[in-house]
Amino acid sequence: MKCLCAAFLCCLSTFASAAWQAGVAKADITPTESVPLAGYGGKTRMSQRVEHPIWLKALALKDDAGATSVLVTADLVGLSDKMIAVIAQHTAEKHGVARERLILNTSHNHSCPVTEDVLWLYYEFTPEEAAAKDRYTAMVYAKYAEVIGAAIANLAPAELAFEQGLAGVAVNRRRSRGPESRAFGGQVDQDVPVITVKAGNDLKAIVFGYSCHTTALGGLSISGDYAGFAQLELENSFPGCAALFVQNCGGDANPLPRIRGKDVEATELAGMYGKILAEAVRQVIAGSMKSLSGPIRAAMGETELELQPGIPLEELKQRLPNLSGMPRREFEHFIRQYETLGALPDRVKYPVQVWQFGPDLTLIALTGETVVDYSLKFKAAYGWNNTWVCGYNNDLLSYVPSLRVLHEGGYEGVTGMFEYGHRAPYTETVEERITTKVEELVKATAK
Ligand SMILES: [Zn+2]
Repeated sequence: MKCLCAAFLCCLSTFASAAWQAGVAKADITPTESVPLAGYGGKTRMSQRVEHPIWLKALALKDDAGATSVLVTADLVGLSDKMIAVIAQHTAEKHGVARERLILNTSHNHSCPVTEDVLWLYYEFTPEEAAAKDRYTAMVYAKYAEVIGAAIANLAPAELAFEQGLAGVAVNRRRSRGPESRAFGGQVDQDVPVITVKAGNDLKAIVFGYSCHTTALGGLSISGDYAGFAQLELENSFPGCAALFVQNCGGDANPLPRIRGKDVEATELAGMYGKILAEAVRQVIAGSMKSLSGPIRAAMGETELELQPGIPLEELKQRLPNLSGMPRREFEHFIRQYETLGALPDRVKYPVQVWQFGPDLTLIALTGETVVDYSLKFKAAYGWNNTWVCGYNNDLLSYVPSLRVLHEGGYEGVTGMFEYGHRAPYTETVEERITTKVEELVKATAK
C-alpha cells in the first residue's frame, strides 16, 4: 500500500501544467480471518477462501478553484448511516473536505464481509461471529481513513477525460422474476461511463460504472464479484493504474445467467462478466475521450421519502409467535419502535449529491438501491452523453423504486422494505421527491 502510494506520487509529480490535481490510492480490505459474508439473508455464511483481494480505492481531485473532492469506491455491499457519519466526520476534520465533496460509493458486492450495522436485520450471529464482524469493521474504518488520506497526499497535476461505452451484462430482474411470477419487459442501462485520470501519457486511474447487482456469486469466497474481476482485468491491462468501480442504478438488474451451487462454474461466469465490462472500458480508452475541465461545483441536499402506513402494534404482536428468522427479527424491530418511539417512523431521509465538472459532465449521486429508471430519467433530462447517475452512495437505505416499479409491485420497493427496517413501501411521491431534489441541485451547480 505504502509503495503504491509513493509510486503514484512520484509519477504524477513529474508532470505539470494541468488545471487539475489528482491523487489516487488503494487500500486492501481483504479479511485476514473467516468472517460472516454479507448480502444474502438466511443462514450465516462464514468465508472459507479468498478468490481475489477486495479494496477501497480513492480518487482525490483538486480543481483550479482550490476545492478538494474525493470519490471513494468499495468492494462492499453497502454502508450504513453510522459508517457514513464516522467516515465523513473524520474526512472533514482531518482534511477539510466538505460533505458535498465526499462521495462514498459501494459496488454492492455480495461476496464481502458484513460491516457494522449494514443490513443488520439479515443476520443472527453467534458471539464469535459478531466479534469477527467487529474486528473487520474496525479495520475497514481505519482503511477508509488511510485511503482518503493517501489520495489527498498524492495530489499532483493531471488531466481528466470522460466517455461512455456499452456492456451487455445486466438483465432486468423482472424479465425472469416478476412480481407474482409475471415477467415484465424490464429496461436496463448498459452504459459504461468512464473517467480517465492521466499524468502526461501515464494512465493513473480509471473510474468506471455500471448498473447491475454484483450478485454473480453466492458461495463462501471473498471477492469483488464481476466488478472485482473487471477491476483486476483493467489493472492488469494498465500496470500502475488503479481501476475504481462505481455501482450505478443496478437496483433491479442482475448479471444473468447466474449459477448457484457450483462455485467453480459461477466464478468462471463472474470472471467472464468482468472481462466483458473491462473490454467495454478498454474500448472507451482506445477511442477519443472528451477532456474534462473543472472546477467541480458540488452540492448536497436532502429530501424525505414518505412511507405508507405500517402494521398496527396489536397485529405485530399477534403474528410474532408464528414467525422465525429474518421475518421475526423484522417484527421484533417494529414492536421495539412502537415501544420506544410511540409509533413507526413514517419517513426516511434521502441525501442527494451533484458534482458538475464544468460544462462537460454532471455526476448525480443518489442514495440506496436505486432502480434503473432513475439513471435513464436523469440522463434523458440532462443529456445522454454528459450525465452519470450512480446509486449506492451513502446509507444502503433500501431499494428505491420508481413510480413504475412501485406500481408493478414485487421485491424492489414493495416486499423488500421490511428487510431494511422500514414499516412499509414508499408512497407514490417517491420518484417526484427525488426528482425535485435532483433538479434543485443540478440547477444550483449549473453555470
Ligand atoms: Zn441489492
